[in-house]
Amino acid sequence: MSSTTKPWAIISGAGPSGLLLGLLLAKKGIPIQLVDMSYELDKQPRATHYGPPAMYELRRAGVADEMREQGFFPNGVSWRKIDGTFLAGINVELTSDDPDRMTCLPLNKLGKILYEHISREPTATVSWGHKVVGLGQDDDKAWVDVETPQGPKKLEAEYIIGCDGANSQIRRSLFGDFEFPGKTWDEQIVATNTYYDFSPYNWEDSNFIIHPEHYYMAAKIGTDGLYRITYGEKPGLTLEQLKERQPMKFKEFLPGHPDPSQYKIVNFSPYKIHQRLAPSMRVGRFCLAADAAHLCNPFGGMGLTGGIVDVGGLYDCLAGIYEGLADPSILDKYAEIRAQKYNEIVNPISSDNIVRLNGQDPDKALENDEFLKMCKRAETDHEFAKQMQGGVNALKHDFTQYYKKKGTQNGSTENGDFLKQNHLPLQAAAAGGVNA
Ligand SMILES: Cc1cc2nc3c(=O)[nH]c(=O)nc-3n(C[C@H](O)[C@H](O)[C@H](O)COP(=O)(O)OP(=O)(O)OC[C@H]3O[C@@H](n4cnc5c(N)ncnc54)[C@H](O)[C@@H]3O)c2cc1C
Repeated sequence: MSSTTKPWAIISGAGPSGLLLGLLLAKKGIPIQLVDMSYELDKQPRATHYGPPAMYELRRAGVADEMREQGFFPNGVSWRKIDGTFLAGINVELTSDDPDRMTCLPLNKLGKILYEHISREPTATVSWGHKVVGLGQDDDKAWVDVETPQGPKKLEAEYIIGCDGANSQIRRSLFGDFEFPGKTWDEQIVATNTYYDFSPYNWEDSNFIIHPEHYYMAAKIGTDGLYRITYGEKPGLTLEQLKERQPMKFKEFLPGHPDPSQYKIVNFSPYKIHQRLAPSMRVGRFCLAADAAHLCNPFGGMGLTGGIVDVGGLYDCLAGIYEGLADPSILDKYAEIRAQKYNEIVNPISSDNIVRLNGQDPDKALENDEFLKMCKRAETDHEFAKQMQGGVNALKHDFTQYYKKKGTQNGSTENGDFLKQNHLPLQAAAAGGVNA
C-alpha cells in the first residue's frame, strides 16, 4: 500500500491473529495497515498445535500447505500416570482424510509464513515499532494514537481491530486497565522446548500426565526430536527458583528419570494462566479478536485455535461491510457469537483440561473422568470416535448468513451439541495433538 493511501482497517498487533486477519483482508484487495510495537516477530514458546477449525481458516488464507511442509500431523494423544501407564488415548488416524486435519508447527514458524505472505500483498502495510497508546472514534472514522520512532502519530481508518494480545491496549482503552472479567489460576506453569529422546518409551506424539503435583504435557513439536514439555509448579516461585528446581522436576517426572546431560532445553518460559473474556468484542468501530478478547489456560491448545476462528469470522464480517454485502450491525453478531463460543466451549473445556491433569486421583481417573471414559469407548466404537473428533467444529460459525443476501462461504457448523453435552477437550476431540 502506498504511504499516502488511507487504510480501510487498522489492525493493532502483528502476532498470529493480526497477521492472519491482515492477510485475509489484503487478499480481498482491502487496504489495511498492521501496527506492532515490536520490531520483530514473537519468538516465545507458545502455540504449536492448530485444530481443524483453525486449519480451515489458515487454508482459506492460503498458508496451510506451507504449514504442513514445515510442520507435521501429530499421530495421537494419550493420558498417562506418572509411571508412564497408559490410561486412555485418541486415535487420530480415523480422521486422517480431513482436509483441515490438526497440524503442529511452532508459532514462530507460523508467524514467518504469514508475514511472508502478507508482505506480497499490495494493499497491506506492516508498521513495526508502532505502539498504540490511545484511541478514539466518531461517526465517520476511528483512530489510534501511536508512538513511533519518528514521533507520535494519529492513524485513522473505518475500522480498527485489537489483535494486540493478552495486555491489549485497545481493550484497556475501551474498557479500563482492569476490566477483563474472569480469573487467574493459582497454578504456575512452565513451558519448555526440550530435546529429549522419548523413543524408548513408545508414547504418542502428545501425552498428558495426570498427577497432583508433577502434572505435565510432553508433545513432539518438531521432526528433529524437539518436544514441548509444559509442567505445573508451586505458585510464588521466582524465575531463579523455577530454573533451580527444573532438573529435580524433570528427574522426578520424565520417563527414564534423566539427568541434565541427557536433554537440552532450548526455551524456558514460566506463565501465569487465566480464563478471561473482554466485556464486549465490539465497541462501535473497534473490535477485539483472539488473546486481546479472551484468554484460557494452554492445556488443550484452545487459545489460538479459538482466536483464529474469531479472525475467520471477523474477516467475513469486515469483508461483507467493505463490499456492501453486510450492514455494520453484523459486527454485533460477531461480538455476540464469538463471546458465546468462548463461554460455552473454550472456557469450560479448557478449564476441564487442566483440572483433569492436577485435580484427580490418577488411580481413579478411569472410573471417574467422563472424558477419559469416552476415549475408552472411542477406542472400539469408531463411529463414536469420529463424532467425538468432529465435535471441535462447533467453534465455527458462518457469519455470511447475516449478509443482506445470504452467503455460504464459511461452511457453517452448528452441530455443537455433541461437544457441549459431552464437554470434550477441544483439541483432543479434534485430533489428539492436545498441547500446552
Ligand atoms: C505455553 C503456551 C502454549 C500454547 N499452546 C497453544 C497451542 O498449542 N494451540 C493454540 O491454539 N494456542 C496455544 N497457546 C495460546 C496462543 O499462544 C495464544 O493464544 C496466541 O499466541 C495469541 O495470539 P495473538 O495474535 O492474539 O496475540 P500475541 O501473539 O500476543 O500477539 C500480540 C501482538 O500485539 C503486539 N502489541 C501488544 N501491545 C501492542 C500495542 N500497544 N501496540 C502495538 N502492538 C502491540 C505485540 O507486540 C504482539 O506482536 C499457548 C499459549 C501458551 C502460553
